[in-house]
Amino acid sequence: MNIHEYQAVELLQKYQVPVVDGIVAFNIQELGDAVKKLDTWPLVLKAQVHAGGRGKAGGIKVVHSLEEALEKGEQMFGMKLVTPQTGQEGKIVRRIYITKAINIEKEYYAGIVLDRSKNQLVFMASKEGGVEIEKVAAESPELIIKETIDNGLGLLPFQARRIAIKLGFEGTVLRKATQFFIALYQTMINFDCSLIEINPLVLTKEGDILALDSKLNIDDNALYRHKEIQEMRDIAEENPLEVEASKSNLNYIKLDGSVGCMVNGAGLAMATMDIIKYSGSEPANFLDVGGGASEETVENGLRIILSDENVKAVLVNIFGGIVRCDRVANGIVNAAKKIGVKVPLVVRLAGTNADIAADILANSSLDIIPASDLSDAATKVVKALN
Ligand code: ADP
Ligand code: MG
Repeated sequence: MNIHEYQAVELLQKYQVPVVDGIVAFNIQELGDAVKKLDTWPLVLKAQVHAGGRGKAGGIKVVHSLEEALEKGEQMFGMKLVTPQTGQEGKIVRRIYITKAINIEKEYYAGIVLDRSKNQLVFMASKEGGVEIEKVAAESPELIIKETIDNGLGLLPFQARRIAIKLGFEGTVLRKATQFFIALYQTMINFDCSLIEINPLVLTKEGDILALDSKLNIDDNALYRHKEIQEMRDIAEENPLEVEASKSNLNYIKLDGSVGCMVNGAGLAMATMDIIKYSGSEPANFLDVGGGASEETVENGLRIILSDENVKAVLVNIFGGIVRCDRVANGIVNAAKKIGVKVPLVVRLAGTNADIAADILANSSLDIIPASDLSDAATKVVKALN
């Protein structure tokens, strides 16, 4: 799960990671109150969306008076922020975080990620912090300092110190940075984060080490242990179709292609997407109706797939084990009649009661393209697209 910067700050503070004080506002009235309460100049208004790259897109503004804060805040609320991380559709700003402006001496990068090939966490840091870290990683990966974290021992003090030394810190700053990194690791572990990114980590002119921009991702599988984080969920930031699907207990993932996929089981979803690509097209999504799909789930699933306007054809690929193919077929027929399917619909049903299902589809008077196996289905759906 993704959370906002101001929420990440709240979590970091619980483990004594030094952050910049601030107040979040949901509307212009609250913004005015926050500015008066902070009562220091200049202040920085930061658009809260689940995406980075806000600075360059106009989502970070320095203000020097209440009037200026209200004027810039007014412009920022409701604004559509398009950054390299939001995609073309952008994200609407609904919350603004108001923080003190910091006297920055230098910007760094610090992050902890899971290295899946090693099954271990890796601490990453760089002197090239600020807004361009992705570029650094791509063009000069040698500028990124890495410390692999032992799963049993955790980030050891000497490792934290070694990172700080490699970043060029000395004296008191070295001590502060070392403590900062250990606290960051504590936050990562205790909140079951799958990623922490501090970009920039700053050295201030006063000699302090601070997190100026914080991003935390939480492992969904561990959310049940963190009620306070569950409450931080901001559905407005999530894909509306994915939210709709989760209400019906469907796993739906939006992708960029044009073939909508309804499948049961993640393995079959992967195979289906592979074969669609292999046949020369791209999946628009995958929707997993799960093991015990009912007619109703199938109907909800089809409705969700069809409400994505990028979907130009649908491939239903269901293997009937616990879920019986005849039920799925009835679900498809009923849903298609109710919703009205305007794009080609290729259906491959195999397994329990597949023969009954084939009859149901054939007698349905609907324009359904039946397929006998996976490659037949993929070939037919790609052909139907063209
Ligand atoms: P994003 O990564 O989404 O662009 P950041 O919070 O990293 O947003 O802000 C971008 C840049 O704006 C930072 O690298 C920093 O130079 C500046 N900035 C952000 N917050 C502050 C602040 N409180 N004080 C001074 N400068 C800031
Ligand atoms: Mg940043």
